[in-house]
Amino acid sequence: SEFDIVELIQNVFDLLEMKADKKKITLAFENYHIQPIFVKGDKDKMQQVVENLLVNSIKYGKEGGLTEVSVINLTKKKVLVRVTDNGEGIEKQNLPRVFERFYRVDKSGSRTEGGSGLGLAIVKHIIEAHKEKIYVESEFGIGSEFSFTMTKAKLNIS
Ligand code: ATP
Ligand code: MG
Repeated sequence: SEFDIVELIQNVFDLLEMKADKKKITLAFENYHIQPIFVKGDKDKMQQVVENLLVNSIKYGKEGGLTEVSVINLTKKKVLVRVTDNGEGIEKQNLPRVFERFYRVDKSGSRTEGGSGLGLAIVKHIIEAHKEKIYVESEFGIGSEFSFTMTKAKLNIS
């Protein structure tokens, strides 16, 4: 089916506003006031993807930090949804394992913040079930960037 990814991201922002406020983390959405972007996929599952990524950016984000989401036109057919934070980051040696089930980085906020290590495994599973791609880049102490592709629906104006 097809849905508006801009609206979905706005909904998740509303859902997580209080959680972010508690750590004084700003959630910013670059595409906030632009036109809808219709994509193909399972709306509920994609909501879980966006939610898991944003919850992580808050959990492992620093007090007063910033999480930015943007939807970028990649090609005629694809968009890239990018979630960037300026949180604790992930050490290079641990990066390949973050999508594994039950994996939690040792000595990170994972020590003080609860979790089962399943969030990113679920995210990866959903993205791959959509035949899309997911990427992660991170610098320890600087921040992280998770991004995934989505296929545009025929419905779009441009
Ligand atoms: P769950 O999501 O099941 O509640 P979790 O958050 O520990 O638990 P994942 O979401 O799979 O599990 O993340 C795995 C690990 O990757 C985390 O424990 C954390 O160490 C690291 N991680 C994930 N997202 C970030 C991020 N945005 N910044 C820094 N570290 C992160
Ligand atoms: Mg998580």
